Amino acid sequence: MSKFWSPLTASLVPYVPGEQPKDKKYIKLNTNENPYPPSPQVLEAIQAVANDDLRLYPDPTCDTLVKKIVQYFELAPNQVFVGNGSDEVLAFAFAAFFNPAKPVTFADITYSFYKVYAEFYQLKADIVPLDEQFKLPLGAFSGRDSGGIVIPNPNAPTAILISLDEIRELLATNPDKVVLIDEAYIDFGGESAAKLVKEYPNLLVVQTLSKSRSLAGLRVGWALGSEELIDGLNRVKNSFNSYTLDRLALAGAVAAFEDEAYFLETTAKVVATREAVAKELRELGFIVTDSAANFVFVSHPDHAAELLFQELRERGVLVRYFKQPRIDQYLRVTVGTGEEMSAFVDALKEIIKR
Ligand code: PMP
Repeated sequence: MSKFWSPLTASLVPYVPGEQPKDKKYIKLNTNENPYPPSPQVLEAIQAVANDDLRLYPDPTCDTLVKKIVQYFELAPNQVFVGNGSDEVLAFAFAAFFNPAKPVTFADITYSFYKVYAEFYQLKADIVPLDEQFKLPLGAFSGRDSGGIVIPNPNAPTAILISLDEIRELLATNPDKVVLIDEAYIDFGGESAAKLVKEYPNLLVVQTLSKSRSLAGLRVGWALGSEELIDGLNRVKNSFNSYTLDRLALAGAVAAFEDEAYFLETTAKVVATREAVAKELRELGFIVTDSAANFVFVSHPDHAAELLFQELRERGVLVRYFKQPRIDQYLRVTVGTGEEMSAFVDALKEIIKR
């Protein structure tokens, strides 16, 4: 331990993101990136602002992007908050809405960054176990003595979706705490809770350009919520860094919202590939959860997931393995292009048929 660290720094167990390998070129199915490039309009927009203006600070309030998001979700400008990827938006939300007096509720199997944020802000975690099928026992999320609820929809890494009716019920039974719905993967088959924002002042919906818009490298995310919640996020953000996105990210993000056709086309391709690969995997004896995301969560009764992970890696295919209770027999596999998924399935066949 460094003598320079604060006790908090010494106690942290930081999040470890999925590997970005540098040794060789893999078929990269481990971090839920989109296999298709961003819209050409995004690239043009970024190139157009790569000029002398980079000398100047960017717009701290990202007005041009907020306007696009406002139009897209039919909300008001004071119901939108923009950040550097949804990870940053989530970090600000944990700081803004949860406090050490009450724990924050989330599932045992969920996006592992929630635990890290809770530790960073010294919040207790109130953990609800998923049921045997990895479904969210929604009833169990209500009536708890907690300060807030965080749910990704669809959940990660299970890929399982909850319905808008279930979210409504959750909001209605928890009117006094913030219910944060993390919709990083919502465009691959779910119905967004964005339309409930006007109705429920305690709902915060968080989305990103990283997955369905192929822009993980640009780092743009946003939150939708009541004016009160957005105000809270701005207070936290402006106490860290008064700027939000850099000029390149801002221009690219605006352009991403202008090419709906491209977004719809690439998303439909990912969904079709997901369905085809899920079918093939089931035929090979895998258990595959019903995915509404751009990844599948799979397990084989006769083959240890860790070994499959290693053998796939040796064959140049990277998937995600979590050495974690309850899911250590599962792999999370990002949906790539049709060709990438064929190579993945071929490699798997070779491994399991030996
Ligand atoms: N939420 C969930 C559930 C995720 O899986 C991810 C991606 N790792 C994120 C949020 C963060 O995405 P980003 O910061 O790229 O917007």
